[in-house]
Amino acid sequence: MGQRCLWANRFNPAQVDQLLLNWNGAGKRVNLELFGKPTELKPGESVTLEHSYEVQVGEGTVGFWPRESKAAKKERAKAICAGLMKAHPDATIALHFSSNWELLVATILSAQSTDVKVNEVTADLFSKYRTLQDYASADPTEFEEDIHATGFFRNKTKSIIGAAKAILEQFGGEVPGAMEELLQLPGVARKTANVVLGAGFGIAEGFVVDTHIARLSLRMGLTPRQKTKAINTDKIEKDLMDLIPQEHWTQMGHALIWHGRRICDAKKPLCAECPVAELCPKVGVKPK
Ligand code: SF4
Repeated sequence: MGQRCLWANRFNPAQVDQLLLNWNGAGKRVNLELFGKPTELKPGESVTLEHSYEVQVGEGTVGFWPRESKAAKKERAKAICAGLMKAHPDATIALHFSSNWELLVATILSAQSTDVKVNEVTADLFSKYRTLQDYASADPTEFEEDIHATGFFRNKTKSIIGAAKAILEQFGGEVPGAMEELLQLPGVARKTANVVLGAGFGIAEGFVVDTHIARLSLRMGLTPRQKTKAINTDKIEKDLMDLIPQEHWTQMGHALIWHGRRICDAKKPLCAECPVAELCPKVGVKPK
């Protein structure tokens, strides 16, 4: 079931329970938040809100947020974008590479790994394997050893060797610079393709949605909360593309990732030091 929003200005605990019951198909305890702050409601008590609010349900929490028009959200997103790009003017891709092929390899290796670990591994890998042919004819067992430290090394080996072969056979030995062609390569989904297009070709075809961007988009209310734990990155990408002007997609992606690393940490967001705090509803962030 997808995200669902209700509009109302008066709720009581029974309604909230009913809401979650309808939502999950099973009764569960509900955490209630008003504007991101946990709120206690005793049985029989109700809360009256001044205006209409958006009700978002996710992971056992019902949150009430001020209603925001699409135009107002776009304005807020633009202001967040300006604030983050000003705060992180040096934001850029952290992966090391010297060609579009190396960028593709590093991006495939970065899944479920850190950029620091990938850069450590590719420092040796890129010296050992120099041409596409080197990768296409690599011994899979040896290659698995070479990239072992980045995790998921069997699948990544299949993807990288398979992508090298496909590029040699189908694309004349050049990494393709179009989304639909990149998506034909083994192990390449939209996120990887967006990284290669943005950082390699300077083409903003979509929005990179990694773990930082997914978390920040949710906290900033740029995309609705999702009911399931498995985050729908396609939905987040679409929401960001709707809200943020295309010319900023690549740089805003870098700025969001840097902001996630420096300020808006997964466990300890530094909201008091955040340059866009006044524009952020801090969805799901527990007050200290
Ligand atoms: S105000 Fe807090 S939650 Fe919002 S972006 Fe800044 S650090 Fe993250």
